[in-house]
Amino acid sequence: MFQKILIANRGEIALRVLRAAKELGIQTVAVHSTADAEAMHVRLADESVCIGPPASRDSYLNIHQIVAACEVTGADAIHPGYGFLSENAKFAEILAAHNITFIGPSAEHIRLMGDKIEAKRTAKRLGIPVVPGSEGAVREDRAAKKIAAEIGYPVLIKASAGGGGRGMKVARSEADLSEALSTARSEAGAAFGDDAVYIEKYLEKPRHIEVQVMGDGAGKAIHLGERDCSLQRRHQKVWEEAHSPALNAEERTRIGSIVSKAIADLGYSGAGTVEFLYENGEFYFIEMNTRLQVEHPVTEAITGIDLVHEQIRVASGGGLSATQDEVRFFGHAIECRINAEDPRTFVPSPGTISHFHTPGGLGVRVDSGVYSGYRIPPYYDSLIGKLIVHGRNRVECMMRLRRALDEFVVDGINSTLPLFQELVGNVDVANGDYDIHWLENYLADHAADHK
Ligand code: ADP
Repeated sequence: MFQKILIANRGEIALRVLRAAKELGIQTVAVHSTADAEAMHVRLADESVCIGPPASRDSYLNIHQIVAACEVTGADAIHPGYGFLSENAKFAEILAAHNITFIGPSAEHIRLMGDKIEAKRTAKRLGIPVVPGSEGAVREDRAAKKIAAEIGYPVLIKASAGGGGRGMKVARSEADLSEALSTARSEAGAAFGDDAVYIEKYLEKPRHIEVQVMGDGAGKAIHLGERDCSLQRRHQKVWEEAHSPALNAEERTRIGSIVSKAIADLGYSGAGTVEFLYENGEFYFIEMNTRLQVEHPVTEAITGIDLVHEQIRVASGGGLSATQDEVRFFGHAIECRINAEDPRTFVPSPGTISHFHTPGGLGVRVDSGVYSGYRIPPYYDSLIGKLIVHGRNRVECMMRLRRALDEFVVDGINSTLPLFQELVGNVDVANGDYDIHWLENYLADHAADHK
């Protein structure tokens, strides 16, 4: 087991990793920018190192400084959290060259899944169902027309290097196709320095359902069920639940088995998430994230398995703590991402939190790195905390969520709490009856109510 782990991240996820390391009796090193000197993870870590000025590229993305912090403190492993360097294959390679363990998959698997065309090809080869579309990159308009005609309109042009929904364009008919292709190519080139694009069938009303997996790197893998993250705004997840209200036990077992077998065959190591769109009873692979996800706590709630413990165990060579048969699902869990943003316009609201009071009681978990008097720096994402609620079934979970939201107080800044108070009382949400466009449509329909 590791003696000391350096946490190359900030905010709630840095604290989340720190808690897991402490429970395992491992020393922790926090790194931070000058803007985060007062952060909770810095205060709670055994040691801390300032790695640079506020801008992420100079601090949390500064590989040189992070490796130096590791060497100075004698940390033998790094947990990257999510975002920042968590899916950077070069970072994983540099750590290996310094004999520091990267708590995550191999650089090779990170690279493979980071290229969406390669990822899709690999998924297909491993027996995972994919969205119908082009076999690889589409260079010529003529070839694009042929493929689009075969799969049928509407089609979606996607960037191979894509992320955050950038470089995606819908073409509803052949007349739109050339323009969609050239816009997607130039957006992708500008955003990622790679203008390779591919074509997929555009699904009109899918849900976003993702499967959590853990591999031991030696040919064994398990799945921990799925999460439904269909409630999104601008491709950002807002509300996540486990299980999906749309799946039954048979569908869950079927997709879970397909994915865990594929991950085992790949020889994948650590935590991963295989993301699907789900429509009319069919799953369509869209991408795999080779890291811990923001929404991992809903899976922890229904399985009782600590995913960060599991990541650390696997990275240190200890293997998986459970077999598939030992994974038991219990009840239902929902996570709300509380952002420091206006609940209607979503304009970020940095500043000082004058009062922060979190809910408690049975089945309530709050993962947050903020506190009363904390000043939210303007340089990073606006997530200030996650409220995760668990119940024996979805109805109990929703009742508990409603009361937990009522107890939650965030004063001094704007937060998205009021949005969740609306959602928890909405009939479609109560029925679990929503697709990936539902929230955007809801917000557009209700914009006038709040003018
Ligand atoms: P990114 O890596 O840019 O986030 P993804 O492939 O994960 O790209 O897709 C992001 C989102 O775009 C999905 O969650 C979904 O809302 C939408 N999307 C992606 N592919 C399709 C598709 N074939 N049909 C309809 N919507 C899609």
